[in-house]
Amino acid sequence: MVPPHCHACGQPVGYPGLLCEPCAGRLDRQARPAPRRRRDGLLIHAAYPYAGVARRLVHAYKFAPRPSLGVELAELILARLMIAPPAVLVPVPPDPWRLRRRGFDPVDILVAHLAEQSGCDLARCLARRHAPAQAGSDRAHRIAAGPVLTQVGPIPRRALLIDDVSTTGTTLQRCADALANNCPDGVEAACFACA
Ligand SMILES: [Zn+2]
Repeated sequence: MVPPHCHACGQPVGYPGLLCEPCAGRLDRQARPAPRRRRDGLLIHAAYPYAGVARRLVHAYKFAPRPSLGVELAELILARLMIAPPAVLVPVPPDPWRLRRRGFDPVDILVAHLAEQSGCDLARCLARRHAPAQAGSDRAHRIAAGPVLTQVGPIPRRALLIDDVSTTGTTLQRCADALANNCPDGVEAACFACA
């Protein structure tokens, strides 16, 4: 069995936990970013900046990978962001190709715990198509355009999109676009960390 260690710096710790004391202190001092409104209108809330210990935790969760960290990250989100009914949580759907390669969906673990703890309903109502590179297509242009999303279930009246990390916000915006006309009470987004 692997002895307990800090998920940010790898130092052994004498107790089962997420972080060593110095890293826990650093994480506490990472200020919550101000909610950011994209030019196309979506308001994005983040618990942490995508930097330092917060960024290393995300990497340990997604790329190490350690699916069990999902519950811990969800708890950190709940401690910093107001997540409550009547908002209905809508996970950003995974790219099918990445899901197969990774073997788990980091956002789905987060959102399931957020729903359980907050009392919010959960609507897995979006799906994402893997868009393979096409001959002659411009990669930068495709990334700027964001993923292709489709509705696969009933859309809630008021949606809170959930993602683990938001960098440019394009993926969240495309999800909001896919919901918007069917959410009369609005769409916002929340993530663990944003760049
Ligand atoms: Zn540490």
